[in-house]
Amino acid sequence: MRLAVVGGGIAGLAAAWEGLRQGADVVLLEASDRLGGKILTERAGGRIVEHGPDSFVAYRPAGLELIRELGLEDQIIATHGTRKVQLRSRGRMHPLPDGMGMVLPTKMWPFIRTGILSPWDKVRAGLDLVLPRLLGSEDVAIGDFLGRRLGKGIVRKFADPMIGGIYGATVEELSLDAVLPSLRVSERDHRSLMLASFAQGRSARATPGAGSPFRTLSEGLGSLVERLSEALVAQGAELRTGADVQRLELVAAGTRLVLADDELEADAVVLATGPARAARLLAEAEPEAAAALAAIPVASTAVVTLAYPREAFPGPVTSHGWLEAGAAPVSGITISSAKWAGRAPEGEVLIRAFVPDRVGAMSTASDEELLVAVQGHIAAVLGAAGAPTATWVRRWRHVMPKYTVGHLARVATVDRALEPSGWRVAGSALHGVGVPDCIADGRAQAKAALAAITSEPRIRS
Ligand SMILES: Cc1cc2nc3c(=O)[nH]c(=O)nc-3n(C[C@H](O)[C@H](O)[C@H](O)COP(=O)(O)OP(=O)(O)OC[C@H]3O[C@@H](n4cnc5c(N)ncnc54)[C@H](O)[C@@H]3O)c2cc1C
Repeated sequence: MRLAVVGGGIAGLAAAWEGLRQGADVVLLEASDRLGGKILTERAGGRIVEHGPDSFVAYRPAGLELIRELGLEDQIIATHGTRKVQLRSRGRMHPLPDGMGMVLPTKMWPFIRTGILSPWDKVRAGLDLVLPRLLGSEDVAIGDFLGRRLGKGIVRKFADPMIGGIYGATVEELSLDAVLPSLRVSERDHRSLMLASFAQGRSARATPGAGSPFRTLSEGLGSLVERLSEALVAQGAELRTGADVQRLELVAAGTRLVLADDELEADAVVLATGPARAARLLAEAEPEAAAALAAIPVASTAVVTLAYPREAFPGPVTSHGWLEAGAAPVSGITISSAKWAGRAPEGEVLIRAFVPDRVGAMSTASDEELLVAVQGHIAAVLGAAGAPTATWVRRWRHVMPKYTVGHLARVATVDRALEPSGWRVAGSALHGVGVPDCIADGRAQAKAALAAITSEPRIRS
């Protein structure tokens, strides 16, 4: 059996890894000249610069499992000290209230005392305690649901900065059922989201050793891609870069994958390319799945990294970073050198800023303009004097899938249409955008594609 994996991001690499475990011959085809997709680690001058993800959550086990299978567990590191994320709102920096989850407080008093919300915001949020259940069976936008239960203050000042940045979208467009299904369960079981969150907080505090859930690797997430690629090759997989798959054709023996200057055949295929490319590849043979994939919108973002000498700041920079609520040129800042060990040489502060495409400014601004805007922001907020000693701008154009209202219906359409075939779609397009989600999905889809062709070959006309 031959499995072809299209796309060499972490989902495609994980699919190839699982293909080998299932006993298949594996070929992976990556259009660009490098593997890893959005995982892109640059190491130079004693710095580790992450242009894409810088960490993953430990509570989704697929990431840690793969790292262990590859023998990389001694490289796992957690964030420095305790988590010190802050939220900047209306020009003022606030600590996140103790016990604050993604959008809801798990402790009453820190929430009542926080300066992020106005007294009216807090009174309005309290209405949630007495409101009846509001959800019907249909999917709704997170912003709409939270707005009705807790008021617009919570939506603008917590939910949007905390969740929106992950998808490069506003909570007014993101799907409750795809992104925060636990809120539906909370309302169903407890009626009030606040009461549900306080109860969850109590039981979490009764379980010792929670700590920060974020992990990374001591030499950056690129180590995962490097070790995985080496292990794949060592175990007989063929990894081809510069291999842009342009068409899929159904043939008697299975699938023909057509590249610009070559073609090859496979029994099963995993498409780990992102939704737009997968839609194009499936358009002819699987139009229903293709239409559902094409309907998944994608966002753009830019990551700007700056290295400053420590003396550029009026005092020690110990914050791990902050999220921005409201109008700012950036949606969030990570102080990589404070958050993780070994990201920058002694005496240097390494900062990365996320510039979303919220108002279209990112796509039309030049790299130079982005740098000026971010530098100005860091000077204003952290008091940085002078120019940084090194800078990087990395743009991610139209590649961040947004799980908007109705996303789960689109996922079901794709899954149902492809189910009888040996073709599967994997990665951030459908079942989760986090690195562990993409690993889990890559593996699951490779397994499913191979199982589908071994159980009952599809009759192709
Ligand atoms: C700036 C940024 C920060 C992030 N931070 C985090 C984080 O801290 N933690 C976290 O868990 N997640 C984070 N994410 C999300 C996470 O990085 C991605 O969702 C995940 O890496 C996507 O992996 P993937 O394999 O699905 O897709 P990708 O990495 O996008 O890989 C798809 C690959 O397919 C290739 N391809 C496309 N079309 C073809 C074709 N026709 N033929 C051959 N190859 C093709 C592309 O070249 C690409 O290499 C972040 C994302 C971004 C952009």
